[in-house]
Amino acid sequence: MSTNPLETVAQFPDYHRIRPEHALPAVQRLCQEAKEAIRLQTEQGDTNTETYEKIEGINDWISKAWSPIAHLHSVTNTAEWRKAYADCQPIISQFSAEMSQHSGLYRFYCGLRDDAAFSRYAPEYQKLVTDAIRDFELSGVNLADVHKAEYQRLVQAASELYTTFSNNVLDATQAFHLHITDEAELAGIPDSAKALYRQLAEQNGVEGFWLTLDMPSYLPALTYADNRALREKLYHAFATRASELGPNAGEFDNTPVIKGILSVREDIAKLLNFDNYAELSLANKMAKSPAQVLAFLNDLVEKSRPQALREYQALQTYATDTLGMQTLEPWDVAYASEKLKQDKYAISQEQLRDYFPVSKVLTGLFDIVGKLFGVTFKQTAKLSTWHEDVVAYAVKNKDKTIAYFYMDLYARQGKNGGAWMNGAIDRINNRIKTQLPVAYLVCNFIPPTDGNPAYLSHDEVTTLFHEFGHGLHHMLTQVNCAPLSGINGVEWDAVELPSQFMENFCFEREVLINMSEHRDSKEKLPDALYDKLIRAKNFQSAMMMVRQLEFSLFDMKVHIGDAETDVMETLRAVRDEVAVTPAPAYNRFPMAFSHIFAGGYAAGYYSYKWAEVLSSDAFARFEEEGVYNKVVGTAFKKEILARGASRTAMENFVAFRGREPNIYALLRHNGISLEPTA
Ligand SMILES: [Zn+2]
Repeated sequence: MSTNPLETVAQFPDYHRIRPEHALPAVQRLCQEAKEAIRLQTEQGDTNTETYEKIEGINDWISKAWSPIAHLHSVTNTAEWRKAYADCQPIISQFSAEMSQHSGLYRFYCGLRDDAAFSRYAPEYQKLVTDAIRDFELSGVNLADVHKAEYQRLVQAASELYTTFSNNVLDATQAFHLHITDEAELAGIPDSAKALYRQLAEQNGVEGFWLTLDMPSYLPALTYADNRALREKLYHAFATRASELGPNAGEFDNTPVIKGILSVREDIAKLLNFDNYAELSLANKMAKSPAQVLAFLNDLVEKSRPQALREYQALQTYATDTLGMQTLEPWDVAYASEKLKQDKYAISQEQLRDYFPVSKVLTGLFDIVGKLFGVTFKQTAKLSTWHEDVVAYAVKNKDKTIAYFYMDLYARQGKNGGAWMNGAIDRINNRIKTQLPVAYLVCNFIPPTDGNPAYLSHDEVTTLFHEFGHGLHHMLTQVNCAPLSGINGVEWDAVELPSQFMENFCFEREVLINMSEHRDSKEKLPDALYDKLIRAKNFQSAMMMVRQLEFSLFDMKVHIGDAETDVMETLRAVRDEVAVTPAPAYNRFPMAFSHIFAGGYAAGYYSYKWAEVLSSDAFARFEEEGVYNKVVGTAFKKEILARGASRTAMENFVAFRGREPNIYALLRHNGISLEPTA
């Protein structure tokens, strides 16, 4: 028997025993064996579900070994784990790429689809097969050989262009700095930001302050600096990054890179028989067509723009009356907004932090989930963990354990920042394998200190609920096959439904009051503070909405249109119809829009709003029938959480809501009124 704990996982990873040196041999051996086993299975030519179950089991070996490696790399980021991860990562990528292009596997799934018994398969198996065939075809697997080579060339070209795009943004950002020696020029900027500027100056071997275009440096300056000329200078440099204009004009220009990216994407789409890249991007999403997305976005524009204009007018009036600015310039918007917010809706996350001890928040969270979905959470010593702070829980439905999760809440040395949920083990239930789903929930909250419990700000409470929502999607699944169970296979634009849905509870009066207990006075959260929290949440919400809509419409339109069209023209046309804040003619925002030109959001930026509509509209049913209504909770669990991708996200939603989603709950939750005000 092997002594490598990554190769002998029976049920749960043994975190006490897994060492970085186990990673590479396990990944090498398992990928090798998996390829061989899949070759044997597909060469036999049997098209039946038993063969499918065997293939699923083989893929599960890889995920069982890779999941703990990737996880340990992100929560104990030592030099040894970094190396182990870096060594394994290309092997895993190569394996996934080979599997997604595997013509034997593709033929196997086509064989299942064409089998006489197909129509008698369980519906989730039918969807599994059609989804798999779709994904193979989107990877170019059934192209003629000559086109296959062209496809590979285009994919490679795209990937190189993405890297060039990112590098240009990074280089342009780093090429600029302002060195300031007179602290008076930084009036208004918080000490924390000034400390950063001082530190950056020191690192650059000079006295005084060093301001850059990185977010932690740029944002506080633009939001707080009283010095208008300083704000303008920074804004100008930021807005012209990676373009033919500005302080580094032409040096890192992304204009030709964007042209290249759009043209390659168009070619890929055409090769795969789509009219344009937007259609290809939507082929595996919940939204059905570019036209549907455009109509969705335009509807939101129409409903929220009047209020956005009123919000902007109020800001302009405030700036004139209180700050003595006759016209609001683009570099004044964040500054004036912050002043207005402090004047009218001042609320500090640090003040709220005194009200939310972690233990009460967890009790509150488990209590809500218990009431709605009929499950309980019990700490368990059955699972080994990677750090003493980590707690493992069993999720129980009456006495039956249905899932497990690890909760790793606190920041510590060597742990990646941020908060996330990941699947550790997928639910599988078939003739050859049965396993329960297991999830990782990771946050970076301030840890408890000698005897003093940890407290959360309201933002952190919301983060915890968000990640727990993803966790519930993974853990309450009743789907039997791994590619569709939990969050697997869920459409990209619907995957945030359960997480954003859970966030809504953090703005419910009763929920917050139940979870609160002041650090010193032991008082519950006072009503006055709660009311302020809600008003602050919706401050300039319509302005923020139209800004996101501007990005989304721009993204969709450049991916529908002709790659030869000037993207600045497209942006101007969108802004004319949507934007309420000013932008100077020199603004070159697209040149640094990495989400869509170097990231996974191409023709998918609308997903943010799309998923918010789903989660708001789903939550509205709870508002209508009772926030703790067990019947509604059971329906949400049964039709959405438990179903995963065994049906389409639209079928899940309609089964829960009794109709297709609409935008009204989102507008209401954002405090966007459809009534014209006097
Ligand atoms: Zn999320």
